[in-house]
Amino acid sequence: MSNESNTPTNFIRQIIEKELAEGQTKIVHTRFPPEPNGYLHIGHAKSICLNFGLAEDYNGVCNLRFDDTNPHKEDQEYIDAIQEDVRWLGFDWDDRLFYSSDYFPKLYEFAVELIKAGKAYVCDLSAEEVREYRGSLTEKGKDSPHRNRSVEENLELFEGMKEGMFEDGSRTLRAKIDMGSPNINMRDPALYRIRHGVVHHQTGDAWCIYPMYDFTHPISDALEGINYSLCTLEFEDHRPFYDWIIDNISVSCHPRQIEFSRLNLEYTVVSKRKLTQLVDEKVVNGWDDPRMPTLAGLRRRGVSPASIKEFSRRIGVTKVDGTIEMGALESCIREDLDRSAQRRMAVLNPLKVVITNYPEEQLEAISAPNHPKNESMGARPINFGRELYIDRDDFRESANKKFKRLVLDKEVRLRNSYVIRCDEVIKDEAGEIIELRCSYDPETLGANPEGRKVKGVIHWVSAKEGVKAELRLYDRLFNHPTPDADKEKHFLEHVNEASLTVIENAVVEPLVATEEAGKSFQFEREGYYCVDKDSTVGKPVFNRVVTLRDSWAKIENSN
Ligand code: ATP
Ligand code: MG
Repeated sequence: MSNESNTPTNFIRQIIEKELAEGQTKIVHTRFPPEPNGYLHIGHAKSICLNFGLAEDYNGVCNLRFDDTNPHKEDQEYIDAIQEDVRWLGFDWDDRLFYSSDYFPKLYEFAVELIKAGKAYVCDLSAEEVREYRGSLTEKGKDSPHRNRSVEENLELFEGMKEGMFEDGSRTLRAKIDMGSPNINMRDPALYRIRHGVVHHQTGDAWCIYPMYDFTHPISDALEGINYSLCTLEFEDHRPFYDWIIDNISVSCHPRQIEFSRLNLEYTVVSKRKLTQLVDEKVVNGWDDPRMPTLAGLRRRGVSPASIKEFSRRIGVTKVDGTIEMGALESCIREDLDRSAQRRMAVLNPLKVVITNYPEEQLEAISAPNHPKNESMGARPINFGRELYIDRDDFRESANKKFKRLVLDKEVRLRNSYVIRCDEVIKDEAGEIIELRCSYDPETLGANPEGRKVKGVIHWVSAKEGVKAELRLYDRLFNHPTPDADKEKHFLEHVNEASLTVIENAVVEPLVATEEAGKSFQFEREGYYCVDKDSTVGKPVFNRVVTLRDSWAKIENSN
């Protein structure tokens, strides 16, 4: 899978390599800066792989920093989940775990420095007035009437803000840049706002003013000695302000902001706000619902960190926004599981088969390989007996030659086992098939039958030993490739009502019934499945990770 040598180059790597070669950069220092207001999703994984990956590849370091300037939306639950997810992906920040809130005292000092230099002022305009004064893309902004307050007055008012003398929304601290700038972000952006009554998860009630993200971010980067501050393209227009802050305060490090395209994935949404809505409105069963594009959801579904890293390697890093097909992620998952998952048998829709010429009480342990292409993965015993289950879909009373499964009066091979012939079909009063009477050919274990060819191979589970299991089959969460890009409809209206199908009465090999949550298998001919944490001793539960491609071709060629 992904490793240093096969990471494709990209424009960021080229910048870094050039600056390392020229000596301008000594140590590559990046950071991953999540806001703890939700769980991480596959889009964040791209950013994590990029930031931590660059540090790894160039022998640098990467910090984990919680960008926690919005306390009313943040929570310790998210802080814990984010750390778990980054670790799960296989990255480590050592002792470099930071919080932007660690810098609140310093940020305050820098704000004072700006005021003293005549580069920031306290403004009494309301939020609405600020918007009016700001102008638009085609219209210049207007100076705030408070723009020319004296340094002394500004210092006094800013201190008053900090001391809690003013109401929420009554005043802000703003940078004094240029209300006529063609870049709206440079029209005296806010640096601090007043927020009473919120308890910050790190700083408690120590502060009633909070720094804005755009002010906090460049300073946090500089204080940590970050040299490559990588963010998504929507921050491109914010870069002049990022640079303005660094240029106008006393810090020695000048980090560089470089923007790359965010990951969008078809048939899902990657925005914490929208994912929060899915959770809050109970469209899904929590952040780790296996249909969610969150790392917690993907993990529970049975997706490995290796396949997420490989996906992130394949999509690459560019400056062009686009939407990646779900199939691209699924291929990575499938390739990984094809290599790593042991094979087992599970019957989703059981139909009983009685082998009439097999002794009543006899059970025969047959050795079945765990992986058709990898002998080193060993073999397991499966018990053949008089009664077993096959899938209803694998039987027809009559069919043409294309149907290479079991047909009345015809033969089929049971995977890893004997060739059987269906002699009789038993039906209930309603005419529904409830049992098949078959006979087996004792000469066909691991050998072709004499004088005839049997092409089809079907899977089965011993009726005596098989364990009843619940299988959860997942489909796309949305019916629309870009659910949140539709101007006409709200994204929730595109939810796929059939995204979860529960199969209550599947039967699985006894061996998988006692596996621990998180372990993945290929149920032959059915798909890749992972043991869910909802499993109990008597009732194992499996999530379908991903379907098989070409399930037929593969199986039939390998027996
Ligand atoms: P969201 O819109 O989901 O809330 P965000 O950008 O507000 O995303 P943050 O917690 O601020 O979420 O993100 C942390 C880092 O992850 C940022 O550097 C951000 O640019 C990056 N990131 C977030 N979403 C994506 C994405 N879809 N693709 C690539 N990087 C992303
Ligand atoms: Mg953000």
